[in-house]
Amino acid sequence: MKIVVAGNSGVCFGVRRAFSLLEEAVSDAEKSGKKVFMLGPLIHNPRVIAQYAERGVDVIDIDSIRENSCVVIRSHGITKDERAKLDRFSGITLVDTTCPYVQRIHQLVEKRSKEGFAVLIMGDREHSEVRGITSKITGAFFVIHPAEFDSKNGKLLDFIKTHDKIFAVAQTTSRPANYDFLLKRSRKIATELPGHRFLAAETICTATLKRQDSAGELAKKVGSMVVIGGKISSNTAKLFQVVSEKNSSSFWVESPEDFTSSDIEILKNSESVGITAGASTPDEQIAEMKSFLGSLNG
Ligand code: SF4
Repeated sequence: MKIVVAGNSGVCFGVRRAFSLLEEAVSDAEKSGKKVFMLGPLIHNPRVIAQYAERGVDVIDIDSIRENSCVVIRSHGITKDERAKLDRFSGITLVDTTCPYVQRIHQLVEKRSKEGFAVLIMGDREHSEVRGITSKITGAFFVIHPAEFDSKNGKLLDFIKTHDKIFAVAQTTSRPANYDFLLKRSRKIATELPGHRFLAAETICTATLKRQDSAGELAKKVGSMVVIGGKISSNTAKLFQVVSEKNSSSFWVESPEDFTSSDIEILKNSESVGITAGASTPDEQIAEMKSFLGSLNG
């Protein structure tokens, strides 16, 4: 069995940066004696979170914050209200790992909404990144998920009709084809309305795009594909979607233990297996998978 790891797999720039800031916080805390907390899991990878728990770094929610502790804000960012809540605690050291690409969306929507634009967001309204984005908007906004393009088309139409200035952004992990579709549809409606303006920003993260493209290309060439990543990681879910559209023998696991015996039979019978991994999968987990698949050759 030939094993090929897709280019651009695994930890992205934002997550690497977040972990480097967390490591700095852990090392500073050893000197200051402050307890370090992650405000929500830093990444959607249970194995990595468990490794940090062993080192005394626990995940908490905003209502369990303790004074005089060190609180690490994750790369998806937080809402304006959560930030205000944190600022009320005394003696807190805040380590903000919000990805610069997410910060850019915050700045864009804040600026445009202050200029009177209503903001159209493509993404998952329950995702912390989108909640953080909407919290920066001072006026009207509308969030639509690609799965709702048909069911919410009437609401989208109403939103565009009732606001003569619209500014669109997409959640960083979105699929470009979906965003293009939404922009075309929305722009068409807006341009047919006299005096309406429609602006859009390119906010989809290139790390996500590159990872999806490389994985999609590899999926076409190999017998089976393995996608590594947490089951609640939205970028891994999208990666799996891209891969499984190109290769029907695709598996999404967090670690080799997740394979069933029938999965292993399929893998053993594949002449070639491709590996890709979500943005929250460290290099060691990719190496572990590679070595596991290599062991099936024997
Ligand atoms: S996927 Fe992109 S936006 Fe998200 S943390 Fe990584 S670099 Fe930042």
